[in-house]
Amino acid sequence: MRPDPILRLDLLMLWLVLWLLACGAPISPLCAEGPVSPTGSSPNIVLIFADDLGFGDLVCYGQKRWKTPNIDSIASQGVRFTDFHSSQPVCSASRASLLTGCYANRIGIHGALGPAAMNGIHDDELLVSELLKSKGYKTCAVGKWHLGHHPQFLPLKHGFDRYLGLPYSNDMWPHGPVVKPKTFPELPLIRGDQIIDSDVDALDQSRLTEQYSDFALEFLEDSKDSPFFLYFAHTFPHVPLYAAENFRGKSGGGIYGDVLEEFDAVVGRILGFLKDNALEENTLVIFTSDNGPWLTYGEHAGSAGPLREGKGTVYEGGTRVPMLAKWPGRIPAGKVQDATAMTIDILPTIANFVGAELPSHPIDGLDIADLLACKPGATSPHEVFYHYFRQGELQAIRSGEWKLMLPHDVYCIVPDKLGSDGKPGQSKMRKITEPELYHLGQDIGETTNLAASQPEVLERLLELAQAGRKELGDSLTQTKGTGIRPSGKKDR
Ligand code: MG
Repeated sequence: MRPDPILRLDLLMLWLVLWLLACGAPISPLCAEGPVSPTGSSPNIVLIFADDLGFGDLVCYGQKRWKTPNIDSIASQGVRFTDFHSSQPVCSASRASLLTGCYANRIGIHGALGPAAMNGIHDDELLVSELLKSKGYKTCAVGKWHLGHHPQFLPLKHGFDRYLGLPYSNDMWPHGPVVKPKTFPELPLIRGDQIIDSDVDALDQSRLTEQYSDFALEFLEDSKDSPFFLYFAHTFPHVPLYAAENFRGKSGGGIYGDVLEEFDAVVGRILGFLKDNALEENTLVIFTSDNGPWLTYGEHAGSAGPLREGKGTVYEGGTRVPMLAKWPGRIPAGKVQDATAMTIDILPTIANFVGAELPSHPIDGLDIADLLACKPGATSPHEVFYHYFRQGELQAIRSGEWKLMLPHDVYCIVPDKLGSDGKPGQSKMRKITEPELYHLGQDIGETTNLAASQPEVLERLLELAQAGRKELGDSLTQTKGTGIRPSGKKDR
């Protein structure tokens, strides 16, 4: 009987290894240096995070007033999620989750940190940037940071080699029109860990997108021969809105459309670079948003599409956001993923792709590689998602198609009193006094409370809420969580 050819090859390889070892030769041709990732490679990661971009703001999600061809191309070349969520409908908390894989309240980051904040991301938290740096990646953050503006909290202290951007929101400045002058100190622009412009003004804001774009492309050019991680956390379309002169008045969708079209052009530059340098096959590109649209700003806000409310609420319009990803060869083109996932899942998924160990402390996200790849039958790995907002308030939970709104106060828009010219309109407080139950599969707009007709579902979700409180706390019920960790405090 003739020997099996595969067995014969194995024996030959074994003989070669033994011979190389006997000669004291390095065996790198057979064993890659360092741990081998499950993918057998170190994919580049480009993570683009929009600010206040609504579920209905991209053409691939139904928008018709402006064009977003480059962002949409991520969907046509990869996957578009229809039920992806930011962990919280507000900027700092949302970013904390994206970069650490944790519910933001687990790590003590709440709301939107302003220039008076004395806290930020804790040194002990492990960010995606640090995880990738430990695997030899070059790393760069561009845009809005918002995890603490004191030097110890800035990107260079948390795994990034380079940084250019604003330390917090672009409306936290003294120049209006959104806030009253002198409410905030001057807004700085930071490069590395140095302030390069101590008083960003309107003209500076109109140049930010191009400046960010150039900085990102410079990083890509310098890093194209090694694995890289680009975190592009854009300042816009958060108000106040500014577009460069060559985009202003061009979209047909007002300043909001102009800003999005300029943003789209940046995405086009990044994708074009990947294509021109034959990096597409080895690059995972993710595009998502930190929370829903800030609807009270009227025509200066985006659209939540068919969803109820927007930013600042845990109705779907506040948390459900666009999410697109492409990675040719690993993610099939033109797919739509309806399973539920959240920003907390990005870190563990990237850890899987690059073969990195997860942090030793508890995190909340789970690996969604199968959802990204649209594997047949793949479902959300989570039984439950928790929607926290404000200072540790557990306001809603989600399990399967069911969503439970827990008693809390929510500030809703007043449709006939929206803002204009960059100024906010009126909002009205709605007191939710009893749990409200919605079936999102049949009622994406959260219009019909089924709590009375579905007592068993209600009971199950209330139990899940209680389990969440025990671990993560809930200021609405004065529950201290056993699993929460403090944010970082400013060094004296
Ligand atoms: Mg935001």
